Amino acid sequence: MSRQLIAGNWKMNGTRQNAQGLAQALVARLPADAADVVVCPPFTLLPLLADSLAGTALALGAQDCHKAPSGAYTGDISATMLGEFGVSYVILGHSERRQGHGELDDTVREKAIAATKAGLTPIVCIGETEDQRESGDYTDVLGWQIKGSLPDNFAGVLAYEPIWAIGTGLAATTEQIAQTMLFLREELVRQFGEAGKAIKILYGGSVNADNAAAILGIPEVGGALVGGASLDADAFLSIVSAA
Ligand code: PGA
Repeated sequence: MSRQLIAGNWKMNGTRQNAQGLAQALVARLPADAADVVVCPPFTLLPLLADSLAGTALALGAQDCHKAPSGAYTGDISATMLGEFGVSYVILGHSERRQGHGELDDTVREKAIAATKAGLTPIVCIGETEDQRESGDYTDVLGWQIKGSLPDNFAGVLAYEPIWAIGTGLAATTEQIAQTMLFLREELVRQFGEAGKAIKILYGGSVNADNAAAILGIPEVGGALVGGASLDADAFLSIVSAA
């Protein structure tokens, strides 16, 4: 199995001052044979972090991009622009963007195509709500999200983030994750054939220093997408070490 990927999603957090400190702490203490590690700060911090992370093992990611390379899209940032700052990953279709910005599977798919064209690795997020999980048809929801959000020849990472586990401190149980991962792998193979076997699947939703080892040890888990705990150097490094 390939190396695991630990991605820190800083969301709308970080100032120039504390971001620099956090990034430096991570670089200084990154375990030598660590997993692949990426931090995804807000756009405003990318220039600063591009400088401080250049030449280090810590990769830089963004939290969104537009589907077009340039044009009349007020307020948006293209994947090509991100590439200028040494960004190599971009989170797409996070549930907070699907909910807060009305992003649909189609848009996410177009963004993933744009990201790949610009040389970035898209991390495409999917996940069910609590109601969908409880009603039992969450696998249908996840299957449709994969079908709608991932382009043909998808060359990226899938992040499974149950919405009810994000920011709640209540991660999915290892049994729930294990079962869902098996389903996702089957679905990827069903939709992408042989190539579906190689798509890395991350788990996200209240991953922390205490539960990371158990979660990262589940078969088919290819890493973690970490929100809250990625803002704390000790916690994030513990998660990286558990990979
Ligand atoms: P959390 O966020 O780790 O704070 O639950 C995960 C995410 O939203 O990617």
